[in-house]
Amino acid sequence: MAPSRRRFLHDSLAAVGGLALPITAQAHAARPEPAYLRLARQGRLRDVEKDLWATLDACRLCPRACGADRRGGKSGVCRSTARLKVASYGPHFGEERPLVGRGGSGTIFFSNCNLLCCFCQNWEINHRGDGRYISEVELADMMLDLQERRCHNINLVTPTHVVPHIVTALRTAVGRGLRLPLVYNTGGYDSLDVVRALDGVVDIYLPDFKYQDGTLAARYSSGAADYPEVAAAVIKEMHRQVGTLKVDERGVAVRGLMIRHLVLPQNIAGTDRFVNWVARDLSRDTYVNIMRQYRPEHRARDYPALSRPVTSEEWGQALAWARAAGLTNLHT
Ligand code: SF4
Repeated sequence: MAPSRRRFLHDSLAAVGGLALPITAQAHAARPEPAYLRLARQGRLRDVEKDLWATLDACRLCPRACGADRRGGKSGVCRSTARLKVASYGPHFGEERPLVGRGGSGTIFFSNCNLLCCFCQNWEINHRGDGRYISEVELADMMLDLQERRCHNINLVTPTHVVPHIVTALRTAVGRGLRLPLVYNTGGYDSLDVVRALDGVVDIYLPDFKYQDGTLAARYSSGAADYPEVAAAVIKEMHRQVGTLKVDERGVAVRGLMIRHLVLPQNIAGTDRFVNWVARDLSRDTYVNIMRQYRPEHRARDYPALSRPVTSEEWGQALAWARAAGLTNLHT
């Protein structure tokens, strides 16, 4: 069985260390060209980078819009200054099959988070901020190391609060031969402006859609009452940019949208509304991963409704809703 993300993280925390990097640009020459190479050739990647860094001075990088002067050493809800922190990185075989292929998904786990759910499975990293400060050059080294290790993509986990750093690292890595597609693996609480700025940078969007009810989103995700509207708008923009999922002849993802939806007890996630939204506002062939693995972690037991796993009946109902909505690219 493929290792879980949590297991992967614990096994690989020590991996954020020194690197020896004999990088070759020819290693994956047969793969389709990722979108960011075109932007880089046109010199527009530098413009995107500059605009994104400017948002950190009174931070509005995500919908929290804290206004924190992060380049001045301050932090907002995400508890991040302008310094870049990474918890772990390496090939991961527990992600969705089109991301994993034979070589694995090249995951980079960023420390801290802008959503901060009470049931977070990676709370040591996302809430407590475990990890190591690195430079953007070291982040570029990690991307190139993952390419050298034959991963199929660069999977940026919890990237929202460090997008400027990622684009800076990307520019460096492109100059040294990076040509793997970027996977933007987010909790779905992103700024629409920032996602628009990433048009032509990201090839594969992998957002969660966690809630359909703002009251529940606020209760369980640190006051994010506008989460349902925000996530719907940014996922529609992601879909506009990259469309439905495309895979190569090996079944490996090259471009497109993949949505994750974690089923929660008592239908807290609003699964019935979610699947009907996908069918109505995106397309029935959207790649949707309906996930069953909810377990009460972190502070979930403070909330009676979240203090148990999903029952078989709840899981069966979630799948029945998805099928009734007519989703044709459904995965569990
Ligand atoms: S990225 Fe962090 S500091 Fe910036 S608006 Fe979001 S939570 Fe606030």
